[in-house]
Amino acid sequence: MKKALVCGAGGFIGGHLVKKLKAEGYWVRGVDIKEHEFCESAADEFIVLDLRKEEDCEKALALTEGNFDDVYQLAADMGGMGFIHTAECEIMRNSALVNINMCHHAANAGVGRYFFSSSACVYRDMTKDEPELAEEDAYPAMPDNEYGWEKLYAERMAMTYARHSNMKARIARFQNCYGPEGTWTGGREKAPAAMCRKIAAIEDGGTIEVWGDGTAMRAYTLVEDMVDGIYTLMQSDCEEPLNIGRREYVSVDELVQVVAEVAGKTVNIKHIDGPVGVKARNFENNKIHDLGWESKYSLKEGIARTYPWVKAQLEAQQAAE
Ligand code: NAD
Repeated sequence: MKKALVCGAGGFIGGHLVKKLKAEGYWVRGVDIKEHEFCESAADEFIVLDLRKEEDCEKALALTEGNFDDVYQLAADMGGMGFIHTAECEIMRNSALVNINMCHHAANAGVGRYFFSSSACVYRDMTKDEPELAEEDAYPAMPDNEYGWEKLYAERMAMTYARHSNMKARIARFQNCYGPEGTWTGGREKAPAAMCRKIAAIEDGGTIEVWGDGTAMRAYTLVEDMVDGIYTLMQSDCEEPLNIGRREYVSVDELVQVVAEVAGKTVNIKHIDGPVGVKARNFENNKIHDLGWESKYSLKEGIARTYPWVKAQLEAQQAAE
């Protein structure tokens, strides 16, 4: 039986990835600095470890017999735009330490394949209607935020170790990912979860606040599609970073309208000052499509799976107060 280690298994995408790997027949160890907030981990073994520490990386990788075939590194000090623009030092220090130590110890331990979860934030800002950026257009580098710079460094770290060891590196640049069992409140939530929460909280015809002028363009990928993409990439021979995302671009205001339709509510928008991030995103996804992956869920289908979950979380929280 193949063995996989998922770092960040107590988080959103890592939690879903563990379920995917179990379904594919792997023995899975999950590690994270905390337990999963919203569900019991599906991993065969779950260990709470701080992967900033070298000794904890060694514990994560230690098996009584043999090595892990695959390591999926998704642990990061992570959040939406509100977090990315305020916690710059935490991101630059904590995520870099995790990536430096995990990659080094995975290569030393004789791991077969090492997956690193990078981000579309490695790309520069774009204007609306600009032609698509391909993976190589990440250079010359000018990410919009420190989170993107840290990801670029960690990508290069994984590729460097792959050149100098027997460990193969697989690197995905995720576009915005959303779905059930992700952070939905508290300051680290991303736009789709935040919109679901705000709309669940108002009456029909009510008003929600939206950061910025609502015109920033984004693409959103449901987590089930994302973990299929991760798995597809990991099985491939692709040694370069590769974009994973659905090619369905909407403005922030259009995202609000999709959530409002799913909720069956008329929603008014009040634009307020707040961190927005880049003006637009537009990426090529040809390379992941060439590997046979296609996104299956439209934004509306994905929100139809996400909104009821966020609404139930909000109602449970209100009932407990
Ligand atoms: P998440 O915050 O839900 O998961 C990250 C997990 O890493 C958390 O459970 C956290 O506790 C854990 N972690 C943080 N520091 C740790 C440490 N020192 N030791 C052990 N575990 C630690 O985020 P997510 O949305 O699941 O993202 C997973 C990965 O994908 C991250 O690397 C993120 O940067 C990347 N990514 C996510 C998105 C997205 O839209 N969600 C987009 C681009 C890239």
